[in-house]
Amino acid sequence: MVGLVLLDPPYFKVDLPIMTDRLTFPLPHLSTVALERTYLKAQVRIPVLRGVEMTVNRGEFLAIVGQSGSGKSTLLHLMGLLDQPNIGEVRLHVEPTEDHPAESLRIDNLPPATRDALRNRVFGFIFQAYHLLPELTVLENVQSPLMIRESVLGYWKNRREYRDRACEIIDRVGLSHRLKHRPSELSGGEMQRAAIARSLISRPEILLADEPTGNLDAQTGRDIMALLKSLNDEGLTIAMVTHDDNLANQADRIIRLANGRSVDLANGAAA
Ligand code: ADP
Ligand code: MG
Repeated sequence: MVGLVLLDPPYFKVDLPIMTDRLTFPLPHLSTVALERTYLKAQVRIPVLRGVEMTVNRGEFLAIVGQSGSGKSTLLHLMGLLDQPNIGEVRLHVEPTEDHPAESLRIDNLPPATRDALRNRVFGFIFQAYHLLPELTVLENVQSPLMIRESVLGYWKNRREYRDRACEIIDRVGLSHRLKHRPSELSGGEMQRAAIARSLISRPEILLADEPTGNLDAQTGRDIMALLKSLNDEGLTIAMVTHDDNLANQADRIIRLANGRSVDLANGAAA
């Protein structure tokens, strides 16, 4: 049962009773408060997000929809600490335990080094264009976040464990037969599987996916969606940007961005 490797803490912290609870009492995992982001273009201020209030619940599969240019990527980047808001907050909600009550921590304004460390520990990212490194094999691409995160010595000391971890995750996404292949030798679906494996190597709590099926044919897109859903079933919180209503309708909940604000839609109401 190779998939069980992904159940190790801190990746999978929600046990079955809580999973059942969350169906009736969702626990927030990540939220934005009055989030504003303005870009400056040729001296003109362009407000993209104008007070976005949204929450991703723990263990939830959230779809974020909206027209092209509505700010979906901007929002996802802010949620994952790849960018900072002009106004407003991003808050991470820490899971309650027997010793600690639930608490939420503002994370967008942390010092850069702390923010980087938190980003690497909490978030995994996947993108429409995969962003694999072309000169590296699948195995090397998947391990690359650990290589970047650790000192040379730290990586060297743990190299066997990291290689095993990468191989297990690559197996989990169904790419074991492509370990030594470079991205140019892979199909689009295989590249996205490799990118998903890379996003999981640091055992993130929250996966942020920006149009992950946008470059794929319909069937391959459905396969990638099925993989994401199975990871979500294992406890991974997912926020996925998509303009595909069929995919959005498979999520637990949908929010739509329009006019710089977000609107909650019930599942199935994307069309
Ligand atoms: P979406 O992902 O919904 O298509 P984006 O978040 O990429 O939308 O972009 C929203 C708006 O912000 C667009 O008008 C885009 O041109 C603008 N924008 C995005 N990133 C930048 C940037 N770095 N500099 C200037 N304008 C930007
Ligand atoms: Mg976008």
